[in-house]
Amino acid sequence: MSLLRADSPIQYVKGVGPQRATALASLGIRTVGDLLEYFPFRYELEAGELDIADLTEGMHATVRGQVTSLGGRFPTLRAEIDDGTGICVLRWFRLPFRPPNLTRGVAVVASGRVELYDGRPQIVQPRIQVFPPDALVLRRARGPQLVGVYRSNAEVKSSLIRRIVQTVLAQGRLPVEEVLPTSLLRRRSLMPREQAVRQMHSPTSEAEREQARRRLAYEELFLMELALALRRRRRLALQAGPKLHCTPEIDRRIRARFPFALTPSQEEVIREIVADMTSSRPMTRLLQGDVGSGKTVVALYACLLAVANGQQAAIMAPTEILAQQHYHNIDRYLAGSRVRHVLLRGGLSAAQRAETLAAIERGEVDLVVGTQALIQRDVAFHQLALVIVDEQHKFGVLQRHRFRTKGPMPHYLVMTATPIPRTLAMTVFGDLDISIIRQSPPGRGRIITRVVTLPQWETVMMYVRRRLEAGEQAYVVCPLIGADDSNRQRGRARNRSQTGSEDAPDAPPFGEDAEPAPHQRKGRGNLTSVIETYRRLVNGPWRGLNVGLLHGGLPAAEKEALVSAFAAGRLHAVVATTVVEVGVDVPNATIMVVEHADRYGLSQLHQLRGRVGRGHKNSLCVLIAHDQSGRAAKRLAIMAKTADGFRIAEADLRQRGPGQLFGTRQHGLPELRVASILDDFSLLDAARADALELAARDPELAAPEHRGLLPALRRMFGEKLALIDAA
Ligand code: ADP
Ligand code: MG
Repeated sequence: MSLLRADSPIQYVKGVGPQRATALASLGIRTVGDLLEYFPFRYELEAGELDIADLTEGMHATVRGQVTSLGGRFPTLRAEIDDGTGICVLRWFRLPFRPPNLTRGVAVVASGRVELYDGRPQIVQPRIQVFPPDALVLRRARGPQLVGVYRSNAEVKSSLIRRIVQTVLAQGRLPVEEVLPTSLLRRRSLMPREQAVRQMHSPTSEAEREQARRRLAYEELFLMELALALRRRRRLALQAGPKLHCTPEIDRRIRARFPFALTPSQEEVIREIVADMTSSRPMTRLLQGDVGSGKTVVALYACLLAVANGQQAAIMAPTEILAQQHYHNIDRYLAGSRVRHVLLRGGLSAAQRAETLAAIERGEVDLVVGTQALIQRDVAFHQLALVIVDEQHKFGVLQRHRFRTKGPMPHYLVMTATPIPRTLAMTVFGDLDISIIRQSPPGRGRIITRVVTLPQWETVMMYVRRRLEAGEQAYVVCPLIGADDSNRQRGRARNRSQTGSEDAPDAPPFGEDAEPAPHQRKGRGNLTSVIETYRRLVNGPWRGLNVGLLHGGLPAAEKEALVSAFAAGRLHAVVATTVVEVGVDVPNATIMVVEHADRYGLSQLHQLRGRVGRGHKNSLCVLIAHDQSGRAAKRLAIMAKTADGFRIAEADLRQRGPGQLFGTRQHGLPELRVASILDDFSLLDAARADALELAARDPELAAPEHRGLLPALRRMFGEKLALIDAA
């Protein structure tokens, strides 16, 4: 066979031909290189090739021998093969045709289940391959073997792929170029790429397979981290940001705006942000922190730094309600200051609007708050030094928004209450700087979390009623409007931390832990709509209480009125769809009941739970599992066990995969084919460190031993290199 190259069309591999090549193309296999990168997705253990003398009943085995006798009448056939250690009988009962080259004297490799018949080993309906007589010498390695199973489709079976792969492997050295520099291979004890590819397809042991996988997983993670590191360098090298000054006097004046001392976490994060903003590079930073951890204060600090430097700042929120809330908070902090701030509302009259926009453009406004949609669409700034994006839980595509401003590219801070597990943050946001507020301000009550099942509904609601009558307020959250499932929300997260699992004096008399009692497992949860739940409550356990009904279908004005009535304490409770997730801040609300808790992701539950526990009183969160299989409650148990948003996010990631946390493939990164974000933590760490170091040492990838990297990056990312757009 002529030597195959990676770019040789698959058709030229022996035994493929045009028809199979077309079929293979349906799996994306067009070249020899494609085939070699098409790794098995699992492995089966096969007994492998054995001496006939070693066959025992019941095993799956492969034997090789010379045909010494042929008999039977079509469509049956009987053959005996001899390998020098014994004789094995092969039997077929319903042949479609007589195998033309199966004659006495040829060599046969036969596999199948071994039976004993008349004291002799026999294989019924074996798979066979026929070879010229001398093939007996070409004996393969004996013993058990891991056999790769490939993803297949109707046109191409796994066994076909395996056979073609074996043909290519048999030709000797594979057309596989090394990608990683030798120094890295040595440092991380990784095998050469060619060997890894071979062993992925044809490992002789589990250990060998894992070594090969590890090598390729490292490569994948390394390339990804390298791409991110290079992008980041390029961004930093090319772009100038507004270089601001922070003097002790400015710092003092900003702090004077806050009626409390900053927490050590806030201090640390502010230090990082100030360092960014006072350098000449534009900041690109992700600020993570639980709901209530004090991000707004940090954001305001950054804004005021920009304003103190005579420049403008903008805060963008995902929704109108949230923008309003930010504005009101900020307005409070700024009471009596000269900082000119506006809320860019949706409902402004054309004239008001034009006037506001003109003022912003002339630089007569220092700080603009609004929704992403409004600010991006309409506003031209005079000198915009800082953009803050509050992503809340709607964390998907992280893109650098473009602004119309005369100045240089503004500093950029993205805030999220989604606890993003570190590995994922490193993968998805590898070229962002990340700051985390780890502790919340002091003086918050704890949240006790209980997981209960449907039969306890009445008990729970009666208990809650007593607390409502004593002056507390509650949210009841339902996932659906009507019985239609289309509104079903999926796990995004927001976060808080004052939860606890140990009993407190005011612990509720139910929901000991998350395991349901056996008698509670009967029945099937029907889809409780928010309206039904509302009716059941006001006609049942909550009769006579002031209960509001809040869902996305209501007109905005009605929603606002309801929220303010609740905030003012005029309602005992609101029954709501997950709209309460977005930006309701009512410190007196201390009870959260989540219906159909089993339908939410853990991170989303964590976020919902963050709606309570905002004041200094202790709070209660009841998660009602309607699916009573017991599995749901078990899954929810972690909610009762921990308040740590990062741990919950890890668990969520484990249970549901990164797609659920971010929206599938929104992040623009390549699918990882070999590495696993969940299980390759330490490998990712190593790969990241190596990538950063290499990017710093040789940002052009010009050194001879880095020659393989650029083509590999291009292969891996293709067009997507441009999509990791945090720049
Ligand atoms: P986040 O935006 O992270 O949800 P906020 O900035 O809105 O959190 O802060 C939540 C609450 O905590 C606000 O009422 C705020 O006034 C208060 N707060 C923030 N920082 C501190 C602090 N260092 N000490 C005391 N209270 C604080
Ligand atoms: Mg906030």
